[in-house]
Amino acid sequence: MTENCLFCKIISGEIPSNRIYEDDAVYAFLDIYPASEGHTLVTPKKHFSTFTDMNAEDVALLFEAARKVTAAVEKAFSAEGSNVGINNGEVAGQEVPHVHVHVIPRKKGDGGRGIKSIVWTETDTTNLEEVAKKIRNVL
Ligand code: AMP
Ligand code: ZN
Repeated sequence: MTENCLFCKIISGEIPSNRIYEDDAVYAFLDIYPASEGHTLVTPKKHFSTFTDMNAEDVALLFEAARKVTAAVEKAFSAEGSNVGINNGEVAGQEVPHVHVHVIPRKKGDGGRGIKSIVWTETDTTNLEEVAKKIRNVL
């Protein structure tokens, strides 16, 4: 529990939420300003500010729970699919610095788009080999 963290307070029950799912490692609840009906946030109970701060075990537990929640949310709202994703860091739109996976159910004709509609910058695609190398070098 990290002091002054909104989601730590939600997980501990200090701030109310609409609980969807809970296990030893994960808590999932409805987003208070949903992008579509059923929009759910899946959070690790341990406080990690960003996705990249997490360890393998907690990531596995978080994403298995996110998978289960996604299947349930789609079924409950007869959704044909969903967007499942993390805003990682303030620059990427993360407002609450406690990792959470957004599960946003989608329906045909809802007017929404896919993940590349979040950002689109013109980049040089003639040097993809160099780009791949740059990333491999720091892995
Ligand atoms: P992000 O921008 O990825 O950090 O997402 C934070 C999300 O938390 C937003 O979609 C908000 O609508 C949602 N949110 C903020 N406060 C609450 C709250 N008290 N209960 C549930 N969801 C919240
Ligand atoms: Zn927290």
